[in-house]
Amino acid sequence: MPTSEARAETSAVTTPEPTPAREVLRRVWGYDDFRGDQAAIVEEILAGRDALVLMPTGGGKSLCYQVPSLVRAGTGIVISPLIALMADQVDALSALGVRAGFLNSTQLPHERAATEQALLAGELDLLYLAPERLRVAETQRLLDQARIALFAIDEAHCVSQWGHDFRPDYLRLSMLHERWPDVPRIALTATATDATRREIATRLDLTGARQFVADFDRPNIQYRIVPKNSPQQQLLAFLRTEHPGESGIVYCLSRASVERTAAFLEKQGIPALPYHAGLDRQVRSDNQARFLREDGLVMVATIAFGMGIDKPDVRFVAHLDLPKSVEGYYQETGRAGRDGLPSTAWLAYGLADVVQHRKMIETSEGDAAHRRNLGRHLDAMLALCETVTCRREQLLAYFGQPGSGACGNCDTCLEPPQTWDGTIPAQKLLSTIVRLDRRGQRYGAGHLVDILLGRATDRVTSLGHTDLTTFGIGTELDERGWRGVVRQLLATGLVGVEGDYGTLGLTEASGAVLRGEREVPLRTEPEPRRSRAKASGRSRSASGATAELSGPQAELFERLRAWRAATAKEQGVPAYVVFHDATLRAVAAQAPTTTGELGTISGIGAAKLERYGPGLLATIAGENRPDDSSR
Ligand code: ADP
Ligand code: ZN
Repeated sequence: MPTSEARAETSAVTTPEPTPAREVLRRVWGYDDFRGDQAAIVEEILAGRDALVLMPTGGGKSLCYQVPSLVRAGTGIVISPLIALMADQVDALSALGVRAGFLNSTQLPHERAATEQALLAGELDLLYLAPERLRVAETQRLLDQARIALFAIDEAHCVSQWGHDFRPDYLRLSMLHERWPDVPRIALTATATDATRREIATRLDLTGARQFVADFDRPNIQYRIVPKNSPQQQLLAFLRTEHPGESGIVYCLSRASVERTAAFLEKQGIPALPYHAGLDRQVRSDNQARFLREDGLVMVATIAFGMGIDKPDVRFVAHLDLPKSVEGYYQETGRAGRDGLPSTAWLAYGLADVVQHRKMIETSEGDAAHRRNLGRHLDAMLALCETVTCRREQLLAYFGQPGSGACGNCDTCLEPPQTWDGTIPAQKLLSTIVRLDRRGQRYGAGHLVDILLGRATDRVTSLGHTDLTTFGIGTELDERGWRGVVRQLLATGLVGVEGDYGTLGLTEASGAVLRGEREVPLRTEPEPRRSRAKASGRSRSASGATAELSGPQAELFERLRAWRAATAKEQGVPAYVVFHDATLRAVAAQAPTTTGELGTISGIGAAKLERYGPGLLATIAGENRPDDSSR
């Protein structure tokens, strides 16, 4: 046993240097220390210099400007396009005892006036501002009169005209520097590619700013990509076995499939809400608010949903359709597990996805260069789907971090896929396409597979395709096997898709296969299974948030969750504004009995300790048991 003196010494060695920023971090947020580049970034701003910050979703960008806003004199002005979320962000800060407000178009005149007054009176630590408000001369004059600690430009990739989320008002933000040259600026984004980064720096006049590029890995997210057989049933099995009662997002390509899937889940007893651009504005914002506030809801959505959703306890992101690009996939899956707890990114993908995407590109508007660009994005996404090596390694390499090695927490690491030599089946398929081509005919995958399997369907017979020399030469594979071959050849560009009907044709690369100059290794299609739950090393029967808790601890965690839900409801704020899962977990694991002990837990700062401490202690002591009366 070390003496208390020795202990004090060790802790003095490991305790980071006390700085005003760390003091704020501990007192207000209750966090022990900064993570990654946070400390250096905060330092840079506190020294009055500019910074450009690239961090994946969940990396902890907000603290990079929130902490300096509290340390520096004046108000931190946060430019954000996410108007719908400002009220929640302000609520979350208020719960921490931070004085925050926002100015946007959703406010009533008297609310705006009150916020403006608070700003001028120096009573705000942080002010969220919609970019379009800066257009207004009145707002500029208001800022002239206020004391400004810093400008934070959130979602900075919105300034990129070639990016996926361009907002014209962002171009105007270079004025910040011109009008208030002495105020430090910090631009933040989760979009990582080099080109976007350079564009942000130029357009925001930040070329002289220090750049902080974080590690893009999200180790707590397990990446899995499965062949699509019966998507709804697969989704249901995934939710029931791995994420029962947990919050998550299911992405679908079309509005119709959003509606269908949400209705299906509801019918199966899984609470689900739809979200897409075709829904009434009010319905959309109600559904979003419910998803943020309530525990255990599944949001079924098109990609219209999600930007800026900083709900920390999204336990899974499921894709029922293939995303268009790796960027999109990474951004969408990144919404899972911001709190660092185990989460799953699950994608079901099949032949029809490839056909549909290739077709969409083929018939898309825009010039050839634009189509080539779309094609490149899709190819990278398909390569990720078909890879036989670690998915995470491939993802990280795509974002400029090659050589990370196998991760042990993706499906290809957990169950390494087998490969087989698919050269001969590929030749059979391609020569069927060649023979039809000679007759001036083109067909889709289904018909080609019928021919190869020797199925004399009405269509095959009436078209005279039983006469083809390749009719019935593919019986070594079954229907599913053939669809797998076609999908993989499409994915790797050895077969092409043409026209509105998604018919298959040759590509430049096909010739080498037909001439026997190129081998075609293929992934073995896994047998369809009810559930792949047992595949992973750790137990997935427990929900992500309770994974490492003992029985009684898990029971306490559930009671704490119930207390949190009731408290959040009473106060009209999202559950995570009260406490994050990670904090409740730590409380459940340690079961502290005094306020002092409670205050040492990560995520419990001074304001929350005072406000929620008694409720937590009562719950731990078992005084808030829902079934108390029956005892
Ligand atoms: P981003 O904006 O980059 O997506 P957030 O700022 O929302 O990420 O942070 C993600 C999560 O990590 C939040 O729950 C936040 O409270 C938590 N977090 C951030 N920094 C720290 C830290 N230094 N210590 C503990 N938790 C942190
Ligand atoms: Zn891996």
